[in-house]
Amino acid sequence: MKIALYPGTFDPITNGHIDIIQRASELFDKIIVTVAVNPSKNPLFTAEERIELIRESLSQPKFEVSSFDGLVVDYAKKTDSIAIIRGLRAISDFEYEFQMALMNHKLAEDITTVFLMPNEKYTYLNSSIIRNLAQFHADVSDFVPPCVVDALKKKFPL
Ligand code: ADP
Repeated sequence: MKIALYPGTFDPITNGHIDIIQRASELFDKIIVTVAVNPSKNPLFTAEERIELIRESLSQPKFEVSSFDGLVVDYAKKTDSIAIIRGLRAISDFEYEFQMALMNHKLAEDITTVFLMPNEKYTYLNSSIIRNLAQFHADVSDFVPPCVVDALKKKFPL
């Protein structure tokens, strides 16, 4: 059983994340999508809300959703994951992701970081753009699952 961990903030989950999760599911037997609980980031959605939105957006037994705090590699070991999945959209992602991957490799040599590219239509998409658009009541239904559209409307009522 090959398990991969997909860690992120997911504030909120977007179609770009879902594209990466689907690609990863073709390579691994089980994907654990895990929400980083990092209070210093001051997220729009609580960890519980983010988990619930991810659960509603994914409907296969292959996916598990959880949260973690602390080091990603420690959580990867705890869950018997052999890989950490990260999405690469553009060169701008590369430097940070490269640094993280090298450090994680140093901390845990037997865990491999796997970078996946989304469909090009998602390369410009990130959660912070979605939060900004939603704040001004723009239509984000092309970019996020329906449950996220509803959750954003509740956060930013007209
Ligand atoms: P983080 O705060 O750790 O970057 P995110 O939830 O923003 O958390 O992203 C988690 C992972 O998903 C990161 O590897 C990020 O590069 C990737 N990602 C985010 N948005 C997209 C997208 N539109 N297409 C592909 N990968 C993405």
